[in-house]
Amino acid sequence: MAGEFALKFLLGCVLLLCAGHSGFARNIYDGSQVIRITSRDQSDIDWLRTFHNTYEDKLDFWLEPSQIVSRPVDVLVPKSMIREIRGVLTGNAMDFKVNIADVQGVINKQFMRMAGRNKPSALNGFDYSVYHPYDEIRQWVIDMGAEHADIVSQFLVTTSYEGREMRGLKISVSSGPNKKSIWFEGGIHAREWVSPATVMYITNQLVTDYKANEQRVVDILNNYDIYIVPSLNVDGYVYTWQTERLWRKTRAPQPAEYGGCVGVDGNRNWPYEWGGKGASPWSCSNTFRGPNPLSEVEMKGLTDYALARAKEQEFRLFIDWHSYSQLYLAPWSYDMNAELPPESPDQMAAADAAVTAIKAVHGMDYVYGPSARLLYEASGNSKDWGFKGLGAKYSYVVELRDDGEYGFLLPEDQIIPCAEENYAAALALAEFIHSNDP
Ligand SMILES: [Zn+2]
Repeated sequence: MAGEFALKFLLGCVLLLCAGHSGFARNIYDGSQVIRITSRDQSDIDWLRTFHNTYEDKLDFWLEPSQIVSRPVDVLVPKSMIREIRGVLTGNAMDFKVNIADVQGVINKQFMRMAGRNKPSALNGFDYSVYHPYDEIRQWVIDMGAEHADIVSQFLVTTSYEGREMRGLKISVSSGPNKKSIWFEGGIHAREWVSPATVMYITNQLVTDYKANEQRVVDILNNYDIYIVPSLNVDGYVYTWQTERLWRKTRAPQPAEYGGCVGVDGNRNWPYEWGGKGASPWSCSNTFRGPNPLSEVEMKGLTDYALARAKEQEFRLFIDWHSYSQLYLAPWSYDMNAELPPESPDQMAAADAAVTAIKAVHGMDYVYGPSARLLYEASGNSKDWGFKGLGAKYSYVVELRDDGEYGFLLPEDQIIPCAEENYAAALALAEFIHSNDP
């Protein structure tokens, strides 16, 4: 057995030229499949909720049950449980299919394509069409600040649990007493690689278009400063490259009284309406809220930094990019029965402008709505905090591509199209907000 594993490891290593990306070689997803279950009516939705509650700690729900009939649930099922889960689904006459038949195979193929790539030697050699390991993202932030020092400055947000620097950028082309600001962030969930990639593309495009005198971007940057943190959960991201490709949470060990597992779901750890629905009190869950709000040093550092900036300038727009399932989600997230805020109609109108802009680029459909009502409840969530904690009237979580064919394993050839359509959305949003700003 040990010999077989060593042989497999060696073979994997040879195939990948031992490039240091060892996540593939562990074969931890051998035989795992992503199964898609599609609801046909309200009783299917109710059944899926019970199914989710029963298996939440044993299976990895890529897409949780939502409020929408026909919106699928995707679940990663390990080899050891496939027979059981298929039996449960068949026995209850659920509509399901295998969406990704060979998860480890898809991962291996992607790591193989990335193996042996050279590190970008300079900013102008930086390739936005591929995924980058964290040290390259960190260096990119530093290089952007140095190369475009006339309009971009870089800053240290905080240091992660494992001691890595989390860095961000500020784009500011002018100063003035009435300038307002925008907050962009990505990578709170480690495995959602297209999120940091999209945020980096958007950042570079803003700078490039401003310097090319592109009128729309000039107008936006004349009115708003933009703060950007491309990779928030830096330890988790490194872990997805080196050990477990489908890891989601932070990497801090949790107290025994909560189960003693590793990691908190950063997007259940925000200090607004923390600890309510749709967030687990159990540390082994993928939606563990943490022992208390901002228990994670990354979250505490980020909110401290952003709130200090909010004292200097009013934030008008907050976007937290995730993947996948192509959504523009607005408050509220914490409770579907909470009365929608008075700002909700404006938040919806702006989201409509964003998804219309997305559609115009590559024809992709994104759906928008108040998060808990459209999708599911999630307390301690970024979009609620961006709105009420940071004070940005327009506050969203965006779920990027795709619609589930690859899910978190989105191929690199979709990075640029995904980033292009979301750049268009970000511009449309900023313009909408400016034209409606008092
Ligand atoms: Zn996410």
